[in-house]
Amino acid sequence: MSGAPVRGDGPGLLRAIESRLPGLRLLVDEGDREAYRRDETAYLPAGLPLAVALPVETAQVVALVRLCGEFDVPIVPRGAGTGLSGAAAGIEGALTIAFTRMDRILEIDGENLTVTTQPGIINARLKAAVGERGLFYAPDPASYEQCTIGGNLGTNAGGLCCVKYGVTRDAVLGLEVVMADGTLLRLGGKNVKDVAGYGLIPLLVGSQGTLGIVTEATLRLRPAPPPRSTLIAFFPSLDAAGRAVAGLTAAGLGPVTLELMDRYTIRAVDEVHRLGLDREAAAMLLVESDLPGTAAVAEMDAAVPVCEESGATSVIRAQDPQEADWLRQGRRLAYRALEHLGVARMEDVGVPRSRIPEMLAEIEAIAVRNRIAVGTFGHAGDGNLHPTFVLDRDEGDPAVVRLDAARGELYEAALRLGGTVTGEHGIGVARRDWLVRQRGPEAVEVMRSIKRALDPRDLFNPGRML
Ligand SMILES: Cc1cc2nc3c(=O)[nH]c(=O)nc-3n(C[C@H](O)[C@H](O)[C@H](O)COP(=O)(O)OP(=O)(O)OC[C@H]3O[C@@H](n4cnc5c(N)ncnc54)[C@H](O)[C@@H]3O)c2cc1C
Repeated sequence: MSGAPVRGDGPGLLRAIESRLPGLRLLVDEGDREAYRRDETAYLPAGLPLAVALPVETAQVVALVRLCGEFDVPIVPRGAGTGLSGAAAGIEGALTIAFTRMDRILEIDGENLTVTTQPGIINARLKAAVGERGLFYAPDPASYEQCTIGGNLGTNAGGLCCVKYGVTRDAVLGLEVVMADGTLLRLGGKNVKDVAGYGLIPLLVGSQGTLGIVTEATLRLRPAPPPRSTLIAFFPSLDAAGRAVAGLTAAGLGPVTLELMDRYTIRAVDEVHRLGLDREAAAMLLVESDLPGTAAVAEMDAAVPVCEESGATSVIRAQDPQEADWLRQGRRLAYRALEHLGVARMEDVGVPRSRIPEMLAEIEAIAVRNRIAVGTFGHAGDGNLHPTFVLDRDEGDPAVVRLDAARGELYEAALRLGGTVTGEHGIGVARRDWLVRQRGPEAVEVMRSIKRALDPRDLFNPGRML
């Protein structure tokens, strides 16, 4: 339960939806609603939605927003619910609008290299559809087979190839957005360059459903890159792997993937997926190049000495695309593999890349101090690490107390190193207390004034982020 009082006239809203939007699919049974109570943050308090609306078109979303305003019932926008900050979890008595049925690709424009889509499409499905036309949509969260483009826009999701191609925000050219008063805005479009007025698109992307609801997006595509050249390097210490990451960056290499896994994660992944990883290594890097022709192999050739000079005990090239796929998939499923070992809680700190070795040392020390197992993996090329604390399933409250202490120390360490408490998962509910610490009260007050201006009645995702 959320504990927060229920706001607005819920029964009145449901009656109005049924009479004014008869074609809309609306879930009101408790069992159905229960499935929308939580996102991937099962440990956070969450409320039971009043109902779950599953629109198929923009007009229904506009009508829902207007009705919610009329009956003063808050709205939680939701994609696939894979979020890791609690921002798509239910709010007691609020309407959850889930976009999973609003999942049509509206246009693939090969001339302008854009795709225009509804928000509910799964990231991997969009990638596959544009791939059939020889095109490539870059942002690829590890959850890409489950998460939606709307959710990616809500969180400004990153992913495995964002080190080269940028995060979701960098791929957005246009948005259709329903604002809190029911106004429908069309922002941007197919222009690659467009600086007319304030940048509303960058503001909305990553706003976690608190400022506007995305009903359509026009996204930037690229010609599909050639098959990748892939290597993995094993290191005797986390410090050595961290130095290799900094070294690869300093050497001016531009890998499309630069991912890290520590020993605890290597063992968990290898136990589940049997990839033949070196389970004695303290850390592993997955490095890939997608440069054209022989340049990819040359880029990986250049990566080998950097890894070796940093202390790599072995550097292994993937023999074929299938093997490279398995390695990539192993990294993608790192969190799921850690979940086999206990109750896993993924964190999301980021630091400047040169400070990765220090951050890794901090994480190890925090885990030892608080007597909690930790597996660290992440988008090392972006300086974005996911220390994942793993609690004994049977231990209960004492472990949670130690976990809370460890999380606090983790965030302190990230900020001390000039980093962030969240690289890509978002503040949501999970890290709300830390926003002021990181950004400062003045910046947060500016954020509050933006929220007040765009959503004065606090209709969209209240209590999230701010
Ligand atoms: C195993 C695993 C691996 C992951 N790997 C990554 C990763 O590599 N990179 C990464 O960035 N994240 C990762 N995540 C987190 C998560 O998948 C992403 O945050 C993803 O973007 C969420 O998409 P979703 O469709 O599940 O959205 P939800 O969780 O349903 O929603 C996320 C946010 O977007 C908002 N939202 C949803 N739809 C809309 C809309 N139409 N308009 C406005 N706001 C909307 C919601 O209100 C919420 O604030 C991972 C999660 C898991 C479980």
